[in-house]
Parts: sequence; structure tokens; C-alpha cells
Amino acid sequence: MPYSPQKHLTALLIFIISVIPAFAEWDTIVHLNQKYVDAAQIPSFYKEYKFKKEYKASNKIRYASVLKGVNIDFIIGSQEIFINNLKFHFSYPVVAKSGKILISQIDWVKLIHPILRPSHINNGRTLKTVILDPGHGGYEPGTVNHYGQEKTYTLSLARKVKVLLEKVGFKVVMTRPGDSYPSLQQRVAIANRYQDAIFISLHFNAGGAGRADGIETFSLSPPGVAHYGRGLKSSDLQIRTGNSQDYMNIALATAVHGQAIRKLGAKDRGIRRARFTVLTGVRHPAILFEGGFMSNSSEARKINDDRYLTSMASAIADGIIRYKTVTEKHSRR
Ligand SMILES: [Zn+2]
Repeated sequence: MPYSPQKHLTALLIFIISVIPAFAEWDTIVHLNQKYVDAAQIPSFYKEYKFKKEYKASNKIRYASVLKGVNIDFIIGSQEIFINNLKFHFSYPVVAKSGKILISQIDWVKLIHPILRPSHINNGRTLKTVILDPGHGGYEPGTVNHYGQEKTYTLSLARKVKVLLEKVGFKVVMTRPGDSYPSLQQRVAIANRYQDAIFISLHFNAGGAGRADGIETFSLSPPGVAHYGRGLKSSDLQIRTGNSQDYMNIALATAVHGQAIRKLGAKDRGIRRARFTVLTGVRHPAILFEGGFMSNSSEARKINDDRYLTSMASAIADGIIRYKTVTEKHSRR
């Protein structure tokens, strides 16, 4: 693994766990009907970091904090950014225009700013309950390959995570305890019965003509951001139930995804935005975790290996514990 001492992730999370103070109006520039901010304002706005701008390549710019150990890598023309080497997907590409490097305002407000300007987003809540949602089930198997069915892997993974979390005192709720198929709305309704909870939907991937591989984690698209893989629609401007947790969603995604990438050595496909039904409807911090591609022959073999699923469960449980530790430590302050 090229990176990722645990302490970096923890440091990153501490920065994420925070309330967004009212977003200061930066000078904005309109480009292709989107508002952008000039990245050159970073060092002067976030003075407490002492950011230094470094060119890592002709199209790659790093803002490295001299004081707080946070590196942000922007790639011009790309929606991929890296914060302490963990991959995040912006909603709009970074643009170079008239000698400036422009970041869309929505990415600034919903991703970068919560990381850099901490205050309390947790409102003093204590995480007690973890709701695990094994994808698919019953008559709906999800992806099928010659080793098995997605519904079986997600259930097996969820059961392993449940055992680990119960050992350390969490209440764990499964949206399906066995091989049944609750509808997506039923899964949301089950989740919303609980207080002080988080929600994690577990899936495995398919696609990319057998070549795609790796782990990706989805958090709900903020208002104004498209659903994954689709252009912006007018309905994307609506605020959904899950948007009440926008900042916590990113914190949870960062904790779980970071642990999975670090522990499993899988390709990092990044933290992405989507408007899946479960993410839209659940009122708790929520993510949808895609644990690898059943359509990729080598990853399919790993997913079919019970020991690999055990490691994955342990990474997910560790990510949840880390999220709890950091959010609660911060909120006690
Ligand atoms: Zn699935």
C-alpha cells in the first residue's frame, strides 16, 4: 500500500467531524453555468493550516498544510481529488482558466470546506445502533457469477460485521436477517425506526466488461449534484431526507472506505455521490459500500473466499468504530 498510516486518516476525520460554519462567500467565477471558486484563495482563507501550493506535475497541484498534515491533490480536468491519498470524486471537474485553478462551489462547500473548517456536526449524539442493509435478497439475487450470488455475499458480510460490532457493544439491526427481499422503501422504514444510528448498505459490483475492479463507497449527492453516472436533472435540486446528514455522510464514507482500502489492498475507486433510494430516504448518516466486482475474475475469486469477506467485515467494523470514536471525542469538547 502506498500510503495511509492510520493516524493520517484519524487526523483527516477529526477535521471532517465538524459543523460547517456559515460558508463565507468567496469570490466566485461562473464557468459553464456553474459557480466556481479560485483555489488560490485557499492559503489566505484557511490561514490556520499554512497551506503551501506545490506543483506535483503539470496538471497536478497539491495544497500541503505545513501545520496540520493534510494534503489535498487537485488534478486539472479531473473530478478525482485525493485528500491524504484517499480518493474522492468531485461533482465537477477542476478547471484551469485564465491562469486560475477553479473548484466548483458545490464541491467546495460539501466536501473540502467541511474537512478544512471543523466545528461540531455531531450535536453531541452518541452512536448506539448500526443498521446493516445486505443488498438484494430472496427472489432478487443481485449480480450472479459462476461462484455465487450477490445476495449471499452481502448477507454473509453483514453477519460477520454484526458479530464484530456486537462484541464491542453496538446494537446491530439487519434490514433482512435472512434470505428475504424487503423493498428499498421497507429498508428505509426499518432504518428510520431507530435513533442514534448509522446505516450501511452492502453490495458487490458488476460491470466494466470484466476489467473493472476495486472498492467504492457512495454517499448521498448533495442538492444540486447529479446521481452517479447521470447528467443533472431538475429533481436533483430537491433536498432529500438524507441530505440532513450531508457532513456526517462524508465522514462515515471516509472512515469506512479508508479502512477498507487500507486493510484489503483493493483498488481505490473512491468515494462517490449518488442518489440511491436508501441513501435518499434514511435519516441517519448513511453510505452504500461496494466491496468489489463480481464481474472481474480475480476479484470474484476473492469475494468467494470466506477469509476475504472476514477481512472485509473487520475493516468495515473498524471504520465504524473509528467514526464513533472521532465523532464522540470531538463532540465532548
Ligand atoms: Zn447490489
